[in-house]
Amino acid sequence: MPGEATQRGAGRASSERVMAEKPMAARLSDVPSPQGRFGAFGGQYVPETLMPALQQLEETYARLRSDDTFWSDLSTFHKSFTGRPTPLYRAGNLTKLVRQRAARTAAGKPAQAELGANIWLKREDLAHTGAHKINNTLGQTLLAIKMGKKRIIAETGAGQHGVASATAAAHFGLACDVYMGAEDVRRQRLNVMRMKLLGANVIEVQTGSKTLKDATNEAMRDWMGSVEHTHYIIGSVVGPHPFPMIVRDFQSIIGHETKAQCLRHLGKLPDAVVACVGGGSNAAGIFYPFVDDEKVALVGVEAGGTGNAPGQHAAPLSFGTPGVLHGSLSYVLQTDTGQTADVHSCSAGLDYPGVGPEHSYWRDSKRVTYTAVTDSEALEAFGLLSRTEGILPALETSHAIAWAMKLAEQMPATANLVVNLSGRGDKDVDEVARLLSTVNAGH
Ligand SMILES: *Cc1c(COP(=O)(O)O)cnc(C)c1O
Repeated sequence: MPGEATQRGAGRASSERVMAEKPMAARLSDVPSPQGRFGAFGGQYVPETLMPALQQLEETYARLRSDDTFWSDLSTFHKSFTGRPTPLYRAGNLTKLVRQRAARTAAGKPAQAELGANIWLKREDLAHTGAHKINNTLGQTLLAIKMGKKRIIAETGAGQHGVASATAAAHFGLACDVYMGAEDVRRQRLNVMRMKLLGANVIEVQTGSKTLKDATNEAMRDWMGSVEHTHYIIGSVVGPHPFPMIVRDFQSIIGHETKAQCLRHLGKLPDAVVACVGGGSNAAGIFYPFVDDEKVALVGVEAGGTGNAPGQHAAPLSFGTPGVLHGSLSYVLQTDTGQTADVHSCSAGLDYPGVGPEHSYWRDSKRVTYTAVTDSEALEAFGLLSRTEGILPALETSHAIAWAMKLAEQMPATANLVVNLSGRGDKDVDEVARLLSTVNAGH
């Protein structure tokens, strides 16, 4: 695809020139284009057999997007079933710790304003099933019902999206098949059992590395032969248009609530918002309602793994190049010949070689800053939040916590920083125990 990428790049450069001549630049939030483009990124790089399904989805969603009844039904349901709105919680103890660290660093230096921003946590861990994933699966299940589909399928890595899909399917009485790599089935026994208890069928994928990427390939293959009666609930802001937009819209409830809660608690917008980025759905959900508020700094945190060499991390926005994966053009970790590269992260939810196209757009337009946090920094943040606040965060979320603490230390004490606490860490307790024992053994 390199020819394609270059061509699109040229197209983007010329449209930027056109934009610059206009008195008012288009808003960053006005994406995707009707062709499903976020700047140069996105699109529909799929076999022809999938196009009718994508067109049906586009048409149905275009109708529902402006249907107030659909959104108010979803919102009522979120209130009673999901437990929304989730709280915006001021992490006072963590803030205090950050201020102590800032004071220690500043000791002996010329006096300056007190450092250490107030840290606020958007508690998606308190949403039903323990993470933000349910926002998307409930929305897409309602969409599936509107399209008259009787069966849903999903891919899952750690099992969180599988559990959230199985939950929605159980509630609305749809059949549900979840594709999961055999390696992940072995690592995530608890979530496999949860899905089965919820009435879903878990299909073990034996191809490739037997992980998320392979499960996604198999789910897409299933959908090609079953589109008439099946809806594929993709688990993040990835895949061909219109999925990245649909998932972003359903997850944007996080950012809309955060904005309203900041205005209520603080009387103003936050100074910074930090979220971890796997495929990018929890980050897109909290960022999107803020993208046109230029004063709010937005920071996405990828999985830095064990180092910067290929295969040691899962950070496509930090180390990747534009390429096509799972139906859209975006930053991807790939080899010179265009094969998807091996990735590593201690957290299964971030262990993915691609990222949603809107993040690539935000990266290149410099609206969002992307960075990476290592396995050991994430593990340390996991422990810190658990001990200081009494909240076990997911290992994915721990990456965002680690960076937020570093960032807050540099910000004035009058500033406010929101971290998206994307999920709870109960699922990671075994893995954390294993990692801690290797750390301790190393000493
Ligand atoms: C799945 C998951 C993620 C990563 O997915 P995104 O699409 O990047 O949000 C992050 N945190 C938790 C708790 C998850 O379950």
